[in-house]
Amino acid sequence: MTHPFLDLPPLSADRFASIEDRVARLMSTEQNVVIMQGEALLPLEGAIRGCAGPGTTALNVITGPYGQTFGSWLRDCGATVHDLAVPFHTAVTAAQIREALAEHPEIDFVSLVHAEAATGNTNPVEEIGAVVREHGALFYLDAVASIGAEPVLPDAWGVDLCVIGAQKAMGGPAGVSAVSVSERAWARMAANPGAPRRSYLSLLDWKERWIDGGRTALLHAPAQLEMLALEACVERIETEGLDAVTARHRSAAAATRAGALALGGGLEPFVHQDAEAAPVATTLRTPSGVVASELVAAALRSEPALPLAAGGGALAKEMIRVNHYGADATPEVVRASLATLGAALRESGAVVDLAAARQAAAEAWPQD
Ligand SMILES: *Cc1c(COP(=O)(O)O)cnc(C)c1O
Repeated sequence: MTHPFLDLPPLSADRFASIEDRVARLMSTEQNVVIMQGEALLPLEGAIRGCAGPGTTALNVITGPYGQTFGSWLRDCGATVHDLAVPFHTAVTAAQIREALAEHPEIDFVSLVHAEAATGNTNPVEEIGAVVREHGALFYLDAVASIGAEPVLPDAWGVDLCVIGAQKAMGGPAGVSAVSVSERAWARMAANPGAPRRSYLSLLDWKERWIDGGRTALLHAPAQLEMLALEACVERIETEGLDAVTARHRSAAAATRAGALALGGGLEPFVHQDAEAAPVATTLRTPSGVVASELVAAALRSEPALPLAAGGGALAKEMIRVNHYGADATPEVVRASLATLGAALRESGAVVDLAAARQAAAEAWPQD
């Protein structure tokens, strides 16, 4: 008996290449797009190890937990690293980047996270890209949490290495991921003696053995099921329309934010400025005396399917994450999340206005 997951014909090189092309279209890029056979941390690490070495001076922007990780990879490669950290309730500004570059003119690599699902902020990549371009540094961007939720335009923004994953706003699989690579980035890697070669982390292997060979022979057996899932998810986005998908995420974030403010009970948006709040997920600060992880646990006991989580690490005490992405970017999920959090807050003794929250969320969702 054939099994739908198991008895599949091999994934051909042609099919693999066509999936890469579709992902490239989704990113509006003419650059090479390499689909890596692992979760997004694979191209995130591979791109840093490929480009950075003892001669590199990096500006590493920290607006959430991933920036910390990039800094350790960069240092591990022997790079000199200047960290630019901003409080997690804000975004970084292009002016701050300009200042850091002026202070250390030798910077030739800038790493940035576009949107932070973990902290709920999003950074002005277009403006920052112009500053980085002018300075001449290579620009590395983690767009895992922004792709599908807001525009991601590596070519227009001058991004040399743009990493995406399908598991957030694209509503796809987590097991494969992609990176667009500019000619400048390829040249930097080719000139880097420490760049991974003959390694699972190696982007150069894909360049030399896959791209330069006309994409006719894969390096190794691909993650077939994940590739098919990625193809299906891109197809679904094409059918709905990328603009409609991003609009849905923008509405979900606006509705959650407005609803939480109207709910009262001391719940507040974690990210202070509307414009700095990421469309992919909304973070909320709990009132003093209410432990976020306990509130989330109570909410999930009554509605286990809701995309609610407490913040990671120390933020578990004070931060609630409403992960309204992918299939969860709907008015129903937002409404239920607000209602359930509101009920849990009321249980803890807070005074909340569930009807006002519901109305504010509905008004903030244009097509609702
Ligand atoms: C989700 C995410 C990733 C991928 O990491 P996971 O731990 O697998 O979810 C990478 N970067 C950012 C900014 C993310 O939000």
